[in-house]
Amino acid sequence: MKVHLLKSAEVSTTLFTKVVDFLKSIPGPISFIYDLDATIDFEEDEKFLYQIKDEAEFEKKIMHLSSENFSLSSASSFPLEREMVSWDVLFKKTNQYRKKNDIQKNEFVFLLTDIANKQNWFAALDEKMPYNGFIHTEDWDYYIKCSAAFPIAYEVIALMMQKHMFDGLYDLRINVHENPIGCVNDFCLHKREIILKLRTGDICEDCIERAAGKISPPELHHALQIMSSLREKMLFAQNMKRFSPLSKLIINNKSKIILPDFGNIEIKLRPLEKALYFLFLKYPEGIYHSSLSEHRMELYELYAAISTMGDLAEMQIRIDDMVNALNDSASQKMSRIKRVFEEAIGPDLAVHYYIKGESGQKKKIDLDRTLVNMINT
Ligand SMILES: [Zn+2]
Repeated sequence: MKVHLLKSAEVSTTLFTKVVDFLKSIPGPISFIYDLDATIDFEEDEKFLYQIKDEAEFEKKIMHLSSENFSLSSASSFPLEREMVSWDVLFKKTNQYRKKNDIQKNEFVFLLTDIANKQNWFAALDEKMPYNGFIHTEDWDYYIKCSAAFPIAYEVIALMMQKHMFDGLYDLRINVHENPIGCVNDFCLHKREIILKLRTGDICEDCIERAAGKISPPELHHALQIMSSLREKMLFAQNMKRFSPLSKLIINNKSKIILPDFGNIEIKLRPLEKALYFLFLKYPEGIYHSSLSEHRMELYELYAAISTMGDLAEMQIRIDDMVNALNDSASQKMSRIKRVFEEAIGPDLAVHYYIKGESGQKKKIDLDRTLVNMINT
């Protein structure tokens, strides 16, 4: 099964890449193909300027049902005015992309877009061509305190499952769970209800039964594994796993940093940041910022081993720049390393893994080095 992912122009590459990384982190028969260069914009499309008058309206999918009042604690100020497009416009984009790239009828094309839709849904399939879908990338931060990449990746799996589990959208509408039970097929009329299904990362017995004849067992297994890995990673990111014992830290032969006991979460750092991090791992007693330059050659070797691209002279310049105590290049890298760990495993666990230290004092990584396993050395 193939799933093509594309984004509209305003969706950040960082977010998009994160979504793709999450989906691809579990190997299996469903393949995810992404296109960073697809230029999808809405410059020439009909848009509606729409005023959302209060939180209740912001929160609710539009279904022509009588409205109930719900309050949303952290929402922005209302009325909120924004542009929206119709579902037709969104699906037209996915169809155009499908045609242009000659994508088979039984391959999915999902558009990740920042623009809101008139029905106020986070994600939906195209009734006319259910292998097309869209996922809205904004507004998630009103509901969950972690990267929007988690719920977006989850919606990719949810849409794909829904196509296979239901015979058409009518079947879907009458068979989804109107009252949320923490299954992938919860309807979530109130967008906040989505929190429950993200938290369980699960699919109920009835829905498994329904899917069994329609998706091959290896594909179903793969989809379920991705959902449960997203669930676990999201719990770490939200600091909800803060009482877990510390994980080993593995640096594999491709210089990837993996935390095997935290659901194999990978800490993604850029090559220079990695070189700096590996240097500090080698020195449990710590290093003064001002004496970084004494480790110039060591950093150079570490960097050369990690970074396969770029010419040598240029690499040397970058290292020289980083060890120069007069600029803040190294500090910036340490801050970013800290942020990457915090976003991945939550601030309480992260504190054991990143480089830290008062200014003027030695900087060091606290982690017990018996937990560190470097496979490439
Ligand atoms: Zn269900």
